[in-house]
Amino acid sequence: MSQAAWLLLPPALWAGYAWGSHVLTLGSAWRGPRLSGKVALTFDDGPDAAYTPRVLDVLAAHAIKASFFLIGERAAREPAVARRIADEGHDLGNHTWSHRSLWLSTPRATMRQVEQGHAAIAQAAGAPPRFFRPPWGMTNLSLFPLLRKLRTPCVFWTVQTEGRHPAPSGLQIERARGRTRSGAILNLHDADGVPGAGARLLEALPGMIAAIRSKGLSLVPLRELL
Ligand SMILES: [Zn+2]
Repeated sequence: MSQAAWLLLPPALWAGYAWGSHVLTLGSAWRGPRLSGKVALTFDDGPDAAYTPRVLDVLAAHAIKASFFLIGERAAREPAVARRIADEGHDLGNHTWSHRSLWLSTPRATMRQVEQGHAAIAQAAGAPPRFFRPPWGMTNLSLFPLLRKLRTPCVFWTVQTEGRHPAPSGLQIERARGRTRSGAILNLHDADGVPGAGARLLEALPGMIAAIRSKGLSLVPLRELL
């Protein structure tokens, strides 16, 4: 190979490793069946001592089972909250050990993030996670064999009411109303990644639930939607 070709080899290999998985995302879920009349609420980045119990109260008051993608080190710090999520019949998901971007992680670091997160959540909640969601939806090629081994399919989302930038609660309700169709998976945050996310969600949640139900859709956990 020419010298230029050698220079291009490392970036080409990395691009395949980090981006190839985005093309494949084998066995991953982005939504449920389009004619099911069902929608899943999913909450990322908890458990949070302040916001998660209040989100659980709102869900209980509306008789809704949802799905929580926990960060392992937060579950280890708040085991009582993690346990309550499981005890109240919600699905548990693994959202890695410390919320690192897997896109920038080596296979070894990816394994640590996935396996340590899985073990910490199982330990704290008393039940193993059934699903996996990568932070920011970023994956790499070494992730999918690990997920197959742990039997935790990768679940992305259809609707996000707040992304990397803060969205006021009123806007979040409008997004939930406008974008949620049958089969949708909503991505919500019951803890701060973006500052204030937990508080904005708590304010928006009852309105979101009413907006989705007014469209004739029922709210179910991922185990029922997928
Ligand atoms: Zn996250």
